[in-house]
Formats: sequence, structure tokens, C-alpha cells
Amino acid sequence: MHDRTILITNDDGLWAPGLELLARVASRFGRVVAVAPDRNRSAVSSALSLHGILRLHPLGEDRYACDGTPVDCVLLGVRSVLEREPDWVLSGVNNGFNLGEDVFYSGTVGAAFEGVLQGSKAAAFSMHPKANLASVEPWIESFLRHWEALDLSPNRIWNVNLPKGEPKGFKLCGQDNRQYHNLVEKRMDPRGMPYYWIGGEVGPTYTRSPGSDAEAALAGWVAVTPLRMDLACPEMLARAEDFDATFNGQGA
Ligand code: MN
Repeated sequence: MHDRTILITNDDGLWAPGLELLARVASRFGRVVAVAPDRNRSAVSSALSLHGILRLHPLGEDRYACDGTPVDCVLLGVRSVLEREPDWVLSGVNNGFNLGEDVFYSGTVGAAFEGVLQGSKAAAFSMHPKANLASVEPWIESFLRHWEALDLSPNRIWNVNLPKGEPKGFKLCGQDNRQYHNLVEKRMDPRGMPYYWIGGEVGPTYTRSPGSDAEAALAGWVAVTPLRMDLACPEMLARAEDFDATFNGQGA
């Protein structure tokens, strides 16, 4: 039961309270090795540092700060620190939801995807920025106690979003749509030069379509979404004849 090796990381940085929470919960299931960015690396998705060196700073037993991205952390953790794939790669707990199209930008989710690519079971955890750490903790533990009973196909991860307040339960969800507002704001600096701020002042809003991650998380459920790396569209792949007629037919 407790012989698992568990690699944890995040994108908020090694000192984020969410990582402490994840380490504490994960330690009930095996040996926890933390390799996490030495600063906030949110919204770097699956970025990989290919054009610079990386440093790993040991900060105590099984605890390392890395000056790279979350995916760099997973790679260094698996290939250099552990020298084998861990049983689990857990990422988070992110300060803020990763719902809908957030998952494409999220370093938290990117690290989990790297975990499955390295051969481990992987999950990404995110929570409402005002979530109570004490009330989400037993839900993360409960998820980890049960998730091995429900295997995902290869190259898939669980994306878990924890709500504000006491959760009502777990809900299996699809992926919502995020609504974009004035995403880039132009401002002037004290010297009269423009600068740009991505994201604006208001947080993202979501369509909250029925059965989606955003609907569930915003209604107080622990939203659990299985995500896959294969993004190919099945509905168009089913139309091979139409495709051939269009691109390879007469007049092609
Ligand atoms: Mn983050």
C-alpha cells in the first residue's frame, strides 16, 4: 500500500501552499518526491526548456527546486532524481481553477500530461482561489484512495477541480467553453510607453454548459474530467469519403 513512489510538482512554484497540501496528502500513499519550479510558472502549458541549461537545487530530503518549467520538473524528477518512472505523477494543487480551455494554457495540466508520457498514472489538481485548504484536503485524499480502481487508457489524465466551500461530492464531467473578454489590455507606463497586460482585471467566465467541468465546480462539486492528449476530431475522421471527395476528387 505504501510502497508507491509519487512525484509531485506544480506551476505556482515550490513554496505554494497548494504544493504543501498535495505533498501532505500524497505522503499517506507512498514516498513523495517534490520537484517544482523555483518561481511561479503558471500558464506555460507543456513548455520544455530546450535552449538553456537547467539547475536542480536540493532543499531537503526528496525536495528540489528547479529553474525550469513544470514539464522540465517532471522530466528531471523522473530521469535524474528517481531514475525510473514513479507510480504517480501529481500536479498542483493549483491556486485557481483549470476548467474548459484553461487546460491548454495550464502548466499544472501540462505537468500531468508529461507524467503519463513518462509512463505514470497522472492527475492535475486545481482549486478555487478562495477554497479552504482544510476542507479540500480530505477530498484529494479520497480521490487518491479510489482512482487506481478506474484505469484510464494510455495518454490520459484526470483533471480535478475543487470548489470553494465544502464540496457536495465528486462529479464526472466534460470540458466546458471559456468565454474570452478583452483579453489584452494596453496601458501606459510612467515614461509614456505602452505596455500590455494579458488577462485583464476580471477572471475568466465560462459557458457553464450542462455536464461540464465549470458547471460542476461552480456549483460546489469536485469536478473530475478525464482528459486525453489525442486531440484528433472523431466526427471529421468519420467523414473520410467527404474528405477524399473534397481534397482528392475532381478539380483537386
Ligand atoms: Mn498556477
